[in-house]
Amino acid sequence: ETRPDDDLLVGLNSQQREAVVYRGQALLIVAGAGSGKTSVLTRRIASLLRSREAWPSEILAITFTNKAAGEMRERVEQLVGNSAKGMWISTFHSACVRILRREAEQFGFTKSFTIYDSGDSRALIKRLVKEREADAFGLTPAAVQGRISKLKNELADAESYARQANMNDPAERVFVELFGDYQRELQRANAFDFDDLIGQTVFLFRAFPRVADVYRRRFRHVLVDEYQDTNAAQYALIHELTRPISDSVAEPFESNGMMIFEPDRPSGRDAGGEGASLTVVGDSDQSIYAFRGADIRNITEFERDFPGAKVVLLEQNYRSTQNILSAANAVISNNFDRKDKRLWSADGPGEKIVGYTGYSQHDEAQFVAEEVDALRRTGVDYSQMAVFYRTNSQSRALEEIFIRAAVPYKIMGGTRFYERAEIKDALAYLVAVANPADEMALRRIINRPRRGIGDVTVEAIARYAQNEGITFRDALANASALGVGPKMQAAIAQLDQVLADATDLMLPASGELAPPTAVADGLTLLMDRSGYRDALRMSRDAQDEARLENVDELIAVAREFARNNPEGTVIDFLAEVALVSDTDDLEDASGSVSLMTLHTAKGLEYDAVFITGVEEDLIPHRISANEPGGPAEERRLFYVGVTRARKRLYLTLAMTRAQFGEISVAMPSRFLQEIPGELVDWRQSPGDVNSRGGTQSRALNARPGSGGSGWGRRQIRHDDPPALAPKSTSLDRFPNRIPAKLRDNGDMVLEAGDRIRHDDFGEGRVDAVTGEGAKRVAHVRFDSGGLKKLLIKVAPITKI
Ligand code: ATP
Ligand code: MG
Repeated sequence: ETRPDDDLLVGLNSQQREAVVYRGQALLIVAGAGSGKTSVLTRRIASLLRSREAWPSEILAITFTNKAAGEMRERVEQLVGNSAKGMWISTFHSACVRILRREAEQFGFTKSFTIYDSGDSRALIKRLVKEREADAFGLTPAAVQGRISKLKNELADAESYARQANMNDPAERVFVELFGDYQRELQRANAFDFDDLIGQTVFLFRAFPRVADVYRRRFRHVLVDEYQDTNAAQYALIHELTRPISDSVAEPFESNGMMIFEPDRPSGRDAGGEGASLTVVGDSDQSIYAFRGADIRNITEFERDFPGAKVVLLEQNYRSTQNILSAANAVISNNFDRKDKRLWSADGPGEKIVGYTGYSQHDEAQFVAEEVDALRRTGVDYSQMAVFYRTNSQSRALEEIFIRAAVPYKIMGGTRFYERAEIKDALAYLVAVANPADEMALRRIINRPRRGIGDVTVEAIARYAQNEGITFRDALANASALGVGPKMQAAIAQLDQVLADATDLMLPASGELAPPTAVADGLTLLMDRSGYRDALRMSRDAQDEARLENVDELIAVAREFARNNPEGTVIDFLAEVALVSDTDDLEDASGSVSLMTLHTAKGLEYDAVFITGVEEDLIPHRISANEPGGPAEERRLFYVGVTRARKRLYLTLAMTRAQFGEISVAMPSRFLQEIPGELVDWRQSPGDVNSRGGTQSRALNARPGSGGSGWGRRQIRHDDPPALAPKSTSLDRFPNRIPAKLRDNGDMVLEAGDRIRHDDFGEGRVDAVTGEGAKRVAHVRFDSGGLKKLLIKVAPITKI
């Protein structure tokens, strides 16, 4: 018997096939990197469509980035043709924006709501912190923003947080007030921040089951990629979507101090039955977003939450050569509390990993550029090469060399285009038109370009708006009533007129459809008539020329948008721009080398990968050192980087690095030490650099391990006792290979029964202490399960 989807199974291994054809309620695919999780998800969608078990409109697939969504859609279309139109394949955020656009009016927002990115939220919080003089309590805008975001990811709001906070603590009280202020300001501005997009959708579904039912009826198949990185709010959203259609009486629900009663309960006719089928795929070794509230338990407890779920394990890796996989396995096996799984490949060992230590980050970058060039000459396309780093600021040295060497490159994600001030200004003009309630946008542009409107006038406008019960935008239209001088009145009236004209163009009141070019034309009008462009043009600041180009680039983006979305409005345009998240880029990277952070690299693959800055304090990053589970998460991040490589992997570092305005001596990352020595071909090892006394020149064929005085002045700190370290590591060739430890617990008194905390492994109880002096060993039973022997003198442990 042949099935209509038979050809979709060609080339798949038996576990992969099983995952494609399984037709139960809940399916969990857990597997290591490169084992075909995303491929299986794609084929599964194709199979559902091809067999006519599902209409495209019944499918909701969630990916981690817009880029991944685009690729998945393309692949499904290749497999089943145009019938794939109508599917929702998107990120959590994009899916929620679509839902909220339709439903926002249910709960006090309008369809034209603005999306605040993290810079916008920061600006708002900064103002609120200032108003409440909260810095006196040690509440910086960054800290407040971080805490609010974390709470929102746990679906807490100001009230629910206040109920369990210590309100006797004045700092806590102020924080709760700020949280409440912030939420009210967002609501007043008809805006959602990034976390709200998810959290408010969950709130909407819970408060209005009937609304939720619309989506439950629609999406019969929900599929989630990179499931290990979902946080509590995203998890709740999946839960809401896959519930059976409502059959119970909804409880009244409290939010922001209001009681919400569900206005209209379902008739009960369609109630009950099964919820949507749910497929999730993930790899707990690649969980790298705990700092954003991602909860690895979502994957480990899937079977409990979805009883009867089928679990499929994929084992074979189809991406990388065995040498790369062996390095990845060796590194990740140092993480405690994980299911042991070993990636293997049928493709043979492949090339050795290449190691290189530069004297400085420039030397390191130079090496990368030369290797890129060499690879290119052997026929590897630029688009098949990627350079990763831990922090965005590391890209600059690479960029400088790439520009000089004429290597075409592309920075993926990060603080580029859309975070530039002039782009934010231009977008704020559009927001002021699209969503007049958005006071922040108006405050941003009111004096850009300079119109002589200062804080005093801005406050006069705000006061007037408040007294009259009108919006800030409407207050602008009453310049003469504001009690400001005639010059100021004229400046305000002029801005008001420009905004009004742009509104007529982009959002005609007559109800007629704006022409496709309205956004681009409106933006041009705003930039010209506001004087913004002229101000840049006339400036003597050389950077303003580049800024002008950026504004023009944005107008070009708007024209491109019009071509792709002939009916798209300014509101759609702003949503699209806001969702070009920090992991995405507008253009594709064909024909150029991709530069990106390790976080952005998730899910991608390249023939050749360079991981740069493989140093202590970078990877693992120093901010992780004091966080519970921090070093383990950094190891997973490094593992993600290593497993992106198909054929060639380069690990590079620099002995000195200029950072934060200082030059510091860098130490090789502990992760290098975890890689078996025979896998790495060191073109220049840390020992070589030191033995030459730090000369700037680079000897390409320097022989590794040629003596020297050790690694430098600073000492390495690592989290595993030497007893646990692999016998032979990639750093074996370095002189003084066992690094001295920064930590010395030699004096720590420990006995059976004591409790300790380990930086990586968490808390545990001492079972016994053996040995003497510097060789005392604690036998610790960790709460997470498992017994470890730790050399007390050096283990990163504290007594609790
Ligand atoms: P990650 O964890 O990094 O997201 P993944 O598990 O999603 O990885 P995929 O990206 O789906 O893995 O697959 C990795 C590579 O292996 C892709 O190039 C894919 O085309 C290829 N691949 C997957 N399954 C097979 C197969 N059965 N035969 C040949 N190639 C395969
Ligand atoms: Mg994948």
